Amino acid sequence: MNMTEGLEDKILSDFKRPQKEFELYEKFYLGLGENAKIYLKCESKKYKKIVLAIQEVIQPSVRMNCIRCEIHCCKLYVPELSIYIAKPVGCFDLINYLLVRCDTVLPDPCYENMEKNVCPFYVNGCTLPVDCRSYLCIQYFCDKIKKELDMQLISKYLEKAKFVLNHFSVQECMI
Ligand code: SF4
Ligand code: SF4
Repeated sequence: MNMTEGLEDKILSDFKRPQKEFELYEKFYLGLGENAKIYLKCESKKYKKIVLAIQEVIQPSVRMNCIRCEIHCCKLYVPELSIYIAKPVGCFDLINYLLVRCDTVLPDPCYENMEKNVCPFYVNGCTLPVDCRSYLCIQYFCDKIKKELDMQLISKYLEKAKFVLNHFSVQECMI
């Protein structure tokens, strides 16, 4: 095997790992028992309400700026200005995935995007429902957007979202 082939294999395995992880999250969700679903529903409602509140504050700015943006933080062209970090898929860990997945069928990730350093949920914008974003995605604002936003208000919402995430019990989901 020459060096280029070795590198290609490595890149492919780097893509496959987050994909597998993401599929396991879905399996975990589908295997939840009735009590776990009740617990998850309650926590998910809290999380999504906060994300929606953040979206309401940021949407006017996002609509104005992001569509014309040449950096685009959902692509990994300018890593230091990017929220998309190639893995994990959609920037979700298990807890964050469960909180957004609850009661919502998410769009299929477009894994081919990853070969082009683009988030698998990016197709002319984020394909995830507005209240189904990961904490990592919802907490990022470039300098341009920050100037237009009430960051104090957003920080308060983010603290609340972090609280829900930090206090979520995966153990409760195993009962
Ligand atoms: S948040 Fe900033 S960097 Fe990201 S797409 Fe919008 S304008 Fe561009
Ligand atoms: S999940 Fe959505 S907001 Fe987050 S990086 Fe991907 S396209 Fe962007």
